[in-house]
Amino acid sequence: MSTTKCHAVVIGGGYAGVMAANRMQGSGKARVTLVNPRPTFVERIRLHQLAVGNDDAIEDYGSLLHPDVELTIDTAERILPSERRVVLASGATLGYDYLVYAVGSTGHVPAAVRGAAEHAYPISELEQARRLRSRLADLPLPAPITVVGGGLTGIETASELAAAGRRVTLVGDAIAATLSKPGRRSVARQLSRLRVTMVEGPGAAVSAVAADHVELADGSVLPSEVTVWTAGFSVPRLAATSGLTTDSLGRLLTDETLTSVDDARIVATGDAAAPSGMPFRMSCQSGLPLGAHAGDTVLARWGHTPASDVSVPMYAQCISVGRDAGTVQLQRSDDTPRNFYVGGRAGAFVKERVCRQTIQWMRGEARRPGSYTMPKGPERTGTIPSRHLPEAS
Ligand SMILES: Cc1cc2nc3c(=O)[nH]c(=O)nc-3n(C[C@H](O)[C@H](O)[C@H](O)COP(=O)(O)OP(=O)(O)OC[C@H]3O[C@@H](n4cnc5c(N)ncnc54)[C@H](O)[C@@H]3O)c2cc1C
Repeated sequence: MSTTKCHAVVIGGGYAGVMAANRMQGSGKARVTLVNPRPTFVERIRLHQLAVGNDDAIEDYGSLLHPDVELTIDTAERILPSERRVVLASGATLGYDYLVYAVGSTGHVPAAVRGAAEHAYPISELEQARRLRSRLADLPLPAPITVVGGGLTGIETASELAAAGRRVTLVGDAIAATLSKPGRRSVARQLSRLRVTMVEGPGAAVSAVAADHVELADGSVLPSEVTVWTAGFSVPRLAATSGLTTDSLGRLLTDETLTSVDDARIVATGDAAAPSGMPFRMSCQSGLPLGAHAGDTVLARWGHTPASDVSVPMYAQCISVGRDAGTVQLQRSDDTPRNFYVGGRAGAFVKERVCRQTIQWMRGEARRPGSYTMPKGPERTGTIPSRHLPEAS
């Protein structure tokens, strides 16, 4: 058992990074430095609310982080595994005993869709959601808006805009495709009540975006003064550009203890991690337990005790449909949908409770280290043999 404190550097202060930092700092066995480009925590799950102005989608790190975590406002530009150092955009470097890679995910506007990069408004980052908010401030209420992407973010964004009195068309090859049939019907009913026009099917793929319209694959043209792009996810390239092995999307490839396949001193978590190449659904639902697990893996390695395999329970897909309705799709433990959902006001209530609880869990871990626990998820058939024990240093 090591008696000196481990210096752990966490790159990324999102759901997973904050949870990992609090878990390690509170153990008394680590000194944690958290690197994040912004001085405030971004509640990404409320960015669609920021766009219409009913939430600011930020929280003060002072209330979320363990008071002894050192917050460095900077961006990691390169990881140098052989030197155990991180190079920051400011030119400074940070040495570490262990590194937690928690850079999260972002949206993806495809270059192949003509005009999309120029005219579409993505909403997966704070600055993007603020830019959309400014644009909406100038836009007359009846002006047509198109939301591209029938996934959960697209549904939440379209409904929030419609509930704010906007004229919205939601376009996607399939809307709410990850839900059960009854769950999909619930979402469709709620969207109809808000007068959201739904255009879906193979012909609904967007082929071009212009300043005042979008063109679809079937040749139809939809008037659109503002086009919001929610389809597609990507991840920062930091792992790949640092020479670390990633999956095809760029998530850092790890074993089931969340340890990099290249380097036992690097542990990945949240949306940016691909344990055994079988990543969990990108979500804060998985991000929080993955963050706690990453912290535990570092502490186990530092203490020369076996690190355990990751186990994440996925319960539900929680979707707000405006402020007064929602659909909470219950999931099996393997993250496939059950034929059961909670809809209407009850769905909205559960969703709002979940959003608040994510913040409470991070705060709780800062105040009472080790307090965040989750039941075990299903057994995983990880294909990458786990390095349970630390290498000799
Ligand atoms: C509009 C919207 C609605 C959503 N709704 C839901 C929902 O209802 N439920 C749900 O479970 N999920 C939802 N998600 C997805 C969820 O927000 C993400 O899956 C979650 O934020 C992932 O957590 P994370 O900690 O892995 O990464 P993030 O929250 O993305 O945090 C990563 C952090 O790392 C920082 N970072 C990135 N690169 C660097 C670098 N080089 N150096 C230093 N720092 C860096 C980023 O700035 C960020 O602060 C939604 C997403 C969006 C956009």
